[in-house]
Amino acid sequence: MRKPIVAGNWKMNKEVDDAIALASAVKLELLNFTDAEVVLCPPFTALKAVGDVLQGSYIKLGAQNMHWEKEGAYTGEISPSMLRNVFCHYVILGHSERRAIFHETNEAVNRKVKAALSAGLRPIMCVGETLAEHEAGRTEDVVRIQVEAGLAGVEAGAANIVLAYEPVWAIGTGKTATPEQAQEVHAFLRGIMAKMLGDNIASGIRIQYGGSVKPGNAKELFSQPDIDGDRIGGAALDARGFVEIVRASLTKL
Ligand code: PEP
Repeated sequence: MRKPIVAGNWKMNKEVDDAIALASAVKLELLNFTDAEVVLCPPFTALKAVGDVLQGSYIKLGAQNMHWEKEGAYTGEISPSMLRNVFCHYVILGHSERRAIFHETNEAVNRKVKAALSAGLRPIMCVGETLAEHEAGRTEDVVRIQVEAGLAGVEAGAANIVLAYEPVWAIGTGKTATPEQAQEVHAFLRGIMAKMLGDNIASGIRIQYGGSVKPGNAKELFSQPDIDGDRIGGAALDARGFVEIVRASLTKL
């Protein structure tokens, strides 16, 4: 059985003191919670402080991005080993905001996925179609290309990957894919991964849904067989709402 995984992506929010307060509030509620894996992804500046708060709990630390190189003249970038150094377990890669605003390509995402795996980090690789692609009926084509390119050449450690399906039209918009719509895409994605990585690995890889998940719709989403978790943006900035979503994952058990 795949263990549910719920990750909060705080994006460019929370200065260190606020990040400590939010992480502390989540920790208080979920101190002994082990039924789902819970990951907090604060901005880089708060990673160390949030990591310190999370010590003694089962909650894992994740980053929102990284570079694929180990070190060197890459001004403004952060390496995989720097993330390991502050005890990150996970790293979000290829978020649609990075693809759209910072022109991150499938090739760059692929290099990052491989670099993360070789550094012992678990990548949460994001895929998803835009509204125009969705309306043109191109969802499957778009996510297939993103998965095939993003995971090209990945062999060792593939089982450690988490995939996140995040329809761009649902991110931060208040619109959510219906559980049935999301399930259809998740099942399709698992099929692509089965062709690339084999049935065994693909059936163990967790696929999160992201896009305006709230306490009110989390249970329905979790009730779908191929939805193994959620990636939460806006709702992760409020401890109570985030914890409610995490608890909704118990639907899977
Ligand atoms: C995200 O950006 O990862 C996300 C899912 O955002 P939101 O929950 O705000 O739609």
